[in-house]
Amino acid sequence: MRRILILMSDTGGGHRASAEALQSAFATRFPGRFQVEIVDLWTDYTPWPINRLPRLYSPLVARALWLWKLLWLIFENERALSAVLRLVYPLCRKEMARALQMHRPHLIISVHPLMQQLFLWLIEKEGPPTPFVTVVTDLASFHHGWFHTRAQRCFVASETAANAARRHGLQLHQIRLLGLPVRSAFAQTLPDRATARASLGLTGAAFTALLVGGGEGMGPVAAIAHAVAHRLAATGTEVQLIVICGRNRRLRRALQRAEWPLPVQVHGYVDNMQAWMTAADCIVTKAGPGTIAEALICGLPILLSGFIPGQEEGNVPFVVENRVGAYCESPRAIAETVGEWASGDELERMAARARRLGRPRAAYDIVDEIVGLMEGEGRPE
Ligand code: UDP
Repeated sequence: MRRILILMSDTGGGHRASAEALQSAFATRFPGRFQVEIVDLWTDYTPWPINRLPRLYSPLVARALWLWKLLWLIFENERALSAVLRLVYPLCRKEMARALQMHRPHLIISVHPLMQQLFLWLIEKEGPPTPFVTVVTDLASFHHGWFHTRAQRCFVASETAANAARRHGLQLHQIRLLGLPVRSAFAQTLPDRATARASLGLTGAAFTALLVGGGEGMGPVAAIAHAVAHRLAATGTEVQLIVICGRNRRLRRALQRAEWPLPVQVHGYVDNMQAWMTAADCIVTKAGPGTIAEALICGLPILLSGFIPGQEEGNVPFVVENRVGAYCESPRAIAETVGEWASGDELERMAARARRLGRPRAAYDIVDEIVGLMEGEGRPE
C-alpha cells in the first residue's frame, strides 16, 4: 500500500475539512490502495513553544483582529517570511524529520500556506526525494507562502488563484484549476429542499435563512440573528431561521435561551452541513472559503457578513462580482437584505449562478490527478 501524508494545521476549520475531504476521496476512488494520514505539522512535529502557535490563531482572530492584520501585512513581505522561516527551520528540523521517518510517505500533500518552504527544505536536505503537491484551500486571497516553484502540482479553486500562482513563478503545467476540496457529502446527490426540511424538523413552505460563523462561530452572530429574526417576522409571511454556532458554546447557550419572533433552530457544531444548506433559501456567513464553496454547490445565495483580513478579503469581491450574493457589515443592513431576498425574485437567479460555480467533485478530481502523478513519478515502494 502506498503512503500519502497530508500536512495541515488547525488554524480555522477549513484546512482540516479539505484534508479530510481528500483523505475520504482517496478511500472512495482507490479503495485499499493508499494509506492517507493527516498531520498537524506545527502542533505535532515542532518543538515548544512553536508547537503552541496554532492555538493562538482562533483567539487572535476572535479578539485581536488588528494584530492578526498586522502580522499578515508583515508576512506578506516575502523577505520577512523567508527570514523567519530560516530562523525557525534549524529549531524544527529534527522534529519535522521525525514526521518523515514515522510516515515514510510516497507523496506529500500540503493544504496549508506555511508548510511549503519548510518541508521542501526538509525533503531536500534530509529525506528521500518525495513528490510534493499543494492544494490551495483559499478561494480568492492568497498568502504567497502557498506558491512554491518546487511543488510538482499546485491545485487551485479559482482563476484568481491560478493567476497568483503564475505571478509567483509556477509554470502552467504545474497549476491545475479543479475547485476547492469539500467533504464528500457535497458530491453525493443532495436531497430536494422539501425532503431536507422534513428530515430536519423544519416547516416545508417557509422562507428559511441559515446563519453560520465558520467552524468557531465567530463574529457578531447573535446580533445578526436577532436583527434578521425581527426583519423576517415583519414580512408577515411564513419564515424560519437556523443558527449554527459551530464550536462557540457560549453563543449557542445564549441563543437557545433567547426569545424569538419566529421559529428558530439553534445548533452547535453540526456534521451534516450539506443538509442544512440544502434546506435553506439563503446563507448569512463570514467569508470562509469552505463555507462559500459548499454554499455554491448547494445553489445557496450568500450574504457575507464579514471577513478575516488577509486570507478572506478577496472572497468578498469573488461573491459579489460573480453575482451569487452580497456583502453587508451591520446587522441592520444584513437583516434588510435578507428581508428583501425573502420577498423578491433575485434569489432564484443568484441560486442558479451559484450552482454553475459549484465544484462538488473537486476532491475526486484532485485525487485522480495526484494518483496519475504518482503512477508517473512516485518513488518505488
Ligand atoms: N462547519 C461544520 N459544522 C459547523 C460549522 C462549520 O461542518 O457547525 C464547517 C463548514 O461547513 C466548513 C468549515 O467548517 O466546511 C468552515 O470553513 P471556512 O473556510 O468557511 O471557515 P473557517 O472556520 O476555516 O474560518
